[in-house]
Amino acid sequence: MLKLILKTFFSVLLILMIVLVFNTLTNNKPIPVFKTEKITGSSDSAVLHLSKAIQIKTISFGDTLPIDTSEFKKFKHFLESTYPTVHAKLAKQTFNEFSYVYKWVGKDSSLQPIVLMAHMDVVPVEAIAESKWSVPSFSGAIKNDTIWGRGAVDDKVAVIAILESVEQLLKENFTPSRTIYLCFGHDEEVSGKRGAKVFSNWFKEQNIKPALVLDEGGQIDLQHFKRLNKPVAVIGTSEKGYVNLDLSVEIPGGHSSMPNPETAIDVLNKAILKIRAHQMPAAIVPTLHELLNRTKPAESFSKRLVLSNLWLFEGLVISQLEKTKETNAMIHTTLVPTIFKSGIKDNVIPSIAKATINSRILPGETSDDVLNFAIKAINDERVSVKKQTISLMEPSPITSFEHPSFKIIEKIIQKSVPDVIVSPYLMVGATDSRYFRGFSDAVLNFSAVQDVKGFHGIDERIGKTDLNRMIFFYRKLIKE
Ligand SMILES: [Zn+2]
Repeated sequence: MLKLILKTFFSVLLILMIVLVFNTLTNNKPIPVFKTEKITGSSDSAVLHLSKAIQIKTISFGDTLPIDTSEFKKFKHFLESTYPTVHAKLAKQTFNEFSYVYKWVGKDSSLQPIVLMAHMDVVPVEAIAESKWSVPSFSGAIKNDTIWGRGAVDDKVAVIAILESVEQLLKENFTPSRTIYLCFGHDEEVSGKRGAKVFSNWFKEQNIKPALVLDEGGQIDLQHFKRLNKPVAVIGTSEKGYVNLDLSVEIPGGHSSMPNPETAIDVLNKAILKIRAHQMPAAIVPTLHELLNRTKPAESFSKRLVLSNLWLFEGLVISQLEKTKETNAMIHTTLVPTIFKSGIKDNVIPSIAKATINSRILPGETSDDVLNFAIKAINDERVSVKKQTISLMEPSPITSFEHPSFKIIEKIIQKSVPDVIVSPYLMVGATDSRYFRGFSDAVLNFSAVQDVKGFHGIDERIGKTDLNRMIFFYRKLIKE
């Protein structure tokens, strides 16, 4: 009897091994190899232009805080004087004073137009961080073939690269086959509500349905895929949703010398701990599935075996992805407290405590799922939980990686980056392009940079090579 059980066990094991190895060997498309072209058309003037752009402090301070309009006016004049041909030949519209849409009319009006986007505003540099910078943060210093300063990466490089390529092509008397809109927002770093939201509505009203909207987001990633020994260019094809939950607790306070066993702060604190104790369920969304698929052939045999047999190893893959915050955010809707307010005086127990939980929603889930998860996790009627509607954004539709616009960008990357793997990916942060997702079939997020540093942080900088690659990339795209 024991012999029979053992025999059956080993037979099943053998069959399982055969299935696993068979899947590993057959489920792997080899990585396509392309001949790359040399990056041409670079110019030193572009470096100087980016440096100048950085020196103009187009800062978005906060949602409700005013901007320094004189800096935004300076930026407008800088664009006009630096790109005279663009301003002479393209029609320009202004939205809310400082956001611009340029129209470059193509030869064939029957073709759907494309939209190239970038934003001109930057995040501030905290006073405390300024001394940690290697150069003054808005100096636009050029050192060792690198351009330094706030906005060098996010996102003035894209503004400059788009305008450099268009200015060059106009001077070469080039006319694109389809109409191209250049859209530059001035408040992406706060919400895009005065810029991108307004001009995207204009597109909607005019019934203009772009065949492609290309904005910042993905890049050529060397950091996160080091083990593959290959660059991986990730193109954002969807964005997580965004919702804030307002939590509040009201319990009569009193003198701090005679506290009750529980105060409003205590109850709210416990509620937050309960929310943070568990995550919403994990899921490998289709975009991530494709990323795993495309990078798989470059992985070791054991990783390939696991990734080729997700029917068996999905749990293992998920637990691996949960180990770093970046990959965890790709498989979970996240919830984190970002604001906590209570108390006015050290010897008064406050009667009210409030907190805001910021959540980024995975495609396939909704803000109501987030709300229900929080209410269930807290399980305490004294805590009021409400969804904010003002900033609410459900997860975006997904642009298919089979879409012709995706394929064109993929092809340009393959031609300009040696040995690259190109893949769609899920954007965990939000960009201005989200306002186009409702009505354009292809909204993609990609900048052709690979070695950028200090984004939103200290020593933000970009190399000349990356700037030139961006210009090359936009030139190619416009010509395709
Ligand atoms: Zn940005």
